Amino acid sequence: MMTTKKVIGKEQEEIEKEYKEYTVLSLAEYEEGLRNGKLLGLRCASCGGITCHPMPVCQWCGGRSLARVELCGEGELMTFTVIRVPSEGFEEEAPYIPCLVKTKEGPCVIGRLDYDTESATQELIGKQVKMSGTHTCKGDKFSDGAHTCPVFKIQE
Ligand SMILES: [Zn+2]
Repeated sequence: MMTTKKVIGKEQEEIEKEYKEYTVLSLAEYEEGLRNGKLLGLRCASCGGITCHPMPVCQWCGGRSLARVELCGEGELMTFTVIRVPSEGFEEEAPYIPCLVKTKEGPCVIGRLDYDTESATQELIGKQVKMSGTHTCKGDKFSDGAHTCPVFKIQE
């Protein structure tokens, strides 16, 4: 017996084309911005919220009318941890401090904290930080190559 195969939804090619159309800022462009000293995000025309890291839709309302903006790079240290035992592929990185920063513009971004790993304590949480540079790690067997993240420094 013959069956008719029906394609449900959109073809992969169509999805990718649409994704590109809506992508105002790709991850690669975000990382390139970082390397040029700029923390880039997206401003939503519907709610005014800022999205960062880049996504095809507003992280607050799901709106699709987005425009690139440059964030000031300042914010509050929400949390961090000191990595002394690195995961496989990150041996050269340890010890290091991944952190979460709530930017002045609203969204939280992940980066590295530039601080002495021996003297970092929880008292740092809540301190004001500013983007001071970037860090590029070569990636591991689970990632698709090198990635760049912002580096933040405590503002005294
Ligand atoms: Zn929005």
